[in-house]
Amino acid sequence: MRVIAAVTYRENREEGEIQLTKKGISGIPVFQLSRYIAEDLRLRPAFVTIDFLPNYEEEALIGYLTELKGTKRAEQDGYEVLTGWLPKKLAEAFSRQDSTFLRKKTGDYSEADAGKLVGMVKDFRLRITGTDDLRAAQTITGGADTTEFSAQLESLLVPGLYVTGELLDVDGRCGGYNLHFAFATGYIAGMNAAG
Ligand SMILES: Cc1cc2nc3c(=O)[nH]c(=O)nc-3n(C[C@H](O)[C@H](O)[C@H](O)COP(=O)(O)OP(=O)(O)OC[C@H]3O[C@@H](n4cnc5c(N)ncnc54)[C@H](O)[C@@H]3O)c2cc1C
Repeated sequence: MRVIAAVTYRENREEGEIQLTKKGISGIPVFQLSRYIAEDLRLRPAFVTIDFLPNYEEEALIGYLTELKGTKRAEQDGYEVLTGWLPKKLAEAFSRQDSTFLRKKTGDYSEADAGKLVGMVKDFRLRITGTDDLRAAQTITGGADTTEFSAQLESLLVPGLYVTGELLDVDGRCGGYNLHFAFATGYIAGMNAAG
């Protein structure tokens, strides 16, 4: 399932289309964060928070829910509200998590209930247990230490050896930076190796 969401890991927040799969979460926002998470996972557990309604402020949604009281829509339960806010499959997944709460009529909501429903979709905490296989990576961290190369990309330790692209310990965000780096370093190394 694909949804627009914001994923936050520590101080990094990435927004865009994410994919929710049987194995876990994916998509460009997840790629952007995975380099930090993969490093941290070696030392400690990692948690991300997902905001499934990044274009709506928490206060506005809580306000909307509290204003339902006394209206026709107060008959709606939390699950019905979620089906209006989110793709049905995702609302169903939330319902499986806490069906008792989601069956409560919004007309009976306290402010804490409204905050709870909004928190479910705007502050969804997910434990990351690992990153996908290396073969699924678009770019990987690590590589030859850049301090061991000249500006012409020649090894300072092995004269005549030129190293480019992902073989160097350089990785960029999604957006063409990695291809650009591969082309640029390929050009520099090639010109200097041939010259
Ligand atoms: C699915 C996917 C999507 C991507 N999308 C983007 C994107 O949108 N934007 C972006 O900036 N980056 C993207 N990337 C990353 C980008 O493609 C890489 O960062 C870039 O290609 C790295 O260039 P490179 O020259 O270092 O290595 P590579 O492009 O991997 O080139 C290495 C070459 O060496 C060859 N080789 C390996 N071993 C040997 C050997 N022993 N002898 C001879 N040849 C060998 C390989 O066959 C390969 O042709 C994507 C990567 C993937 C996998």
